[in-house]
Amino acid sequence: MSPGVAVQRPDVPNFAHALNHTWHMGRTGRSAEALEQVHQLLEQARAAGDDRGIAGCLTQIGWFCLQLGHAEQGIDSAKAARDMWARLRKPGGEAHAGAIYAWLLVELSLVDEGFAEASTAVGLAEIVDNPAILAFALNAKAVALMYGRQDQLVGPLLRRSLALVAGTDDLSAQALYATNLAFSQVSLAEAAENEGRLEEGRTWREQALVNNDLAIKVAETCGDKWALRTALCNGAEYYALLGREDVALSYLARWEEVIGTVGLREHVHYLYTRGELLTRMGRLGEALEFCELAVELAEASSHVDHQVNTLRRLSDVHEALGNHAEALQLYKRFHTAYQRQMGEVIRRRAQLLEMQLETSKLRVRAAALEEQVGQDPLTGLPNRRSFDAAFAQLQGSRFCLAIADLDHFKAINDQYSHVVGDAVLQRVAIILTGLGRQMRAFRLGGEEFALLFPGLELNAAAAVAEAVRGELERADLTDLAPRLKLTASIGVASSAGGPATELMTVADRRLYRAKALGRNRVVSNDLADDISMSA
Ligand code: GH3
Ligand code: MG
Ligand code: MG
Repeated sequence: MSPGVAVQRPDVPNFAHALNHTWHMGRTGRSAEALEQVHQLLEQARAAGDDRGIAGCLTQIGWFCLQLGHAEQGIDSAKAARDMWARLRKPGGEAHAGAIYAWLLVELSLVDEGFAEASTAVGLAEIVDNPAILAFALNAKAVALMYGRQDQLVGPLLRRSLALVAGTDDLSAQALYATNLAFSQVSLAEAAENEGRLEEGRTWREQALVNNDLAIKVAETCGDKWALRTALCNGAEYYALLGREDVALSYLARWEEVIGTVGLREHVHYLYTRGELLTRMGRLGEALEFCELAVELAEASSHVDHQVNTLRRLSDVHEALGNHAEALQLYKRFHTAYQRQMGEVIRRRAQLLEMQLETSKLRVRAAALEEQVGQDPLTGLPNRRSFDAAFAQLQGSRFCLAIADLDHFKAINDQYSHVVGDAVLQRVAIILTGLGRQMRAFRLGGEEFALLFPGLELNAAAAVAEAVRGELERADLTDLAPRLKLTASIGVASSAGGPATELMTVADRRLYRAKALGRNRVVSNDLADDISMSA
């Protein structure tokens, strides 16, 4: 079946459909194939200048590279996807891509950076109220904590992930989170046993086996072969550690029966798990074969973490065989690889910093350029510079000025986040520009806007300002956040009242009176009690 042909619905745009298809391929263990197709889609999206399409492709590339064990190749895509979603002001996409980026950082041993990214992704996902993305971001955070040896903090995060996807049909996600929960429980068991708390250790191991078997069952049901292989291999490891070699072997036999292309990461994992098991069983000749193959594959992959893992196992086999010279030789190679791994971490960290610096430089430059052209980058409204120019041009003519300040805007930021705050400002800009030709709107800065009414008398300008106030109050913002409401206070002044230079001061003074009188109102005179157009 080729993408977008067999099951295409007429109401689904081709491109989105093709992206859904590749995502599904990844979820059924065909990540390598999916990766190839997404690269083609990315080219199409680039040619069409479709930013959302590009961001969608880059997100998937990041994820498939992670699944396939090509973290180095995936990390730039995931980061670019995250930044792109942010520019498009799509916090859901940003959280998803950010979580993938976080996980890739952890894969490359940049655990602290990964943890920080994952935490941001969780924060964003909490706001957008998307359980699937939140669950995924929590999982990424949990992975960072596992690598950082903070296993006691992992359980609650993964339990929440599982609870969030429990009611959904996302079995693939359920399998993944259950696998990771089991993994963290084995680490807890090891820690407990090392400190002599054997009973506790046993309980953790039992729970781990239950969760891992659950993951296997769910992965089998939904056909997620990647999750299935991972859980089967982990299961073999857990049973081997319990001395249940027979069960461990049966898990590995099932692993071999899973059809489909095997990614590099999975293959290396399988080979050294099998090698370790055979070593434990005293079948050293066979163990040697598997571990040698694992080392070979890991070296070809240029993934230093794999090299470290596999060399250590091969060294163990030689030790057990009594080949002390070989064992020592390998141990030296292991040590070199380990040092290289540390070097890699430092190099990657430097690269990352460099990249961040470049991005922030670019942002500053972009902001400076937009400022120069007189446009506010967030809302697209003319900015303070444009306002000054327009104001100067009106000097000597009759016109009115209104200054609008959003009410309790800080509370919106605090309650719903800056992302939502920004989206509100953008919505305000749309409302202001949609209100006819009698006025021109500017963003003065922050949550303050100026309205210019060329040729209008005070009463007419105040009436338009009142219409603005009403539109803002009635605006439906619930798509940005549930129960979100917005109001503004507005002060209006006319050039007929005195020198135009004083206009700003007068409008400002009236604005602050509107605030003092309870907000959500327009004030267009300085009389003590006569409040025009109160809400
Ligand atoms: P008041 O009704 O008295 O005006 O209350 P307020 O909370 O709106 O008052 P204040 O002027 O103290 O707060 C304005 C807030 O606007 C503070 C700042 O964090 C926020 N803000 C300014 N610029 C931006 C922006 O570009 N994006 C977001 N999200 N918030 C902004
Ligand atoms: Mg303000
Ligand atoms: Mg305000």
